[in-house]
Amino acid sequence: MPSPELLAKLRAARFANAAPTFVRDAVGNDAMYIGGTIMAWWFLTPDGRVLVYPDEDPGAQVRELHGGDATWLLANCAWSLGVPELLDLLPPAPAASTPCPHCEGTRYLARNNLDHTRACDHCRGLGWLRLDILVLTK
Ligand SMILES: [Zn+2]
Repeated sequence: MPSPELLAKLRAARFANAAPTFVRDAVGNDAMYIGGTIMAWWFLTPDGRVLVYPDEDPGAQVRELHGGDATWLLANCAWSLGVPELLDLLPPAPAASTPCPHCEGTRYLARNNLDHTRACDHCRGLGWLRLDILVLTK
């Protein structure tokens, strides 16, 4: 669940009103804008859900992201917005886990040939992998 401090920070940020009115109406006015692409708008609700408005036109269906899709998106938004508090919403490493060998537990990978960083695809921005999954994927 986002803390009241995080919600206040997102509400006050310069990007808070970046989404057009029809998108804000579709996701609900209490949802905080956290980023997007040319064709999608991403939001965090006060109860911790990650919503996507997946189109540039009115009438699109709002989707909720779950699991690794949600953690990967939150990790990317934390980096791109400079709001590391978003990482507090990701689940902590369980006892039966190991630091992700691909990002070395940092959650992020540098993109080849681009001055840009993105969330690790392997751990989905968590920085750790469950040991049972790691054995299966080796
Ligand atoms: Zn990783």
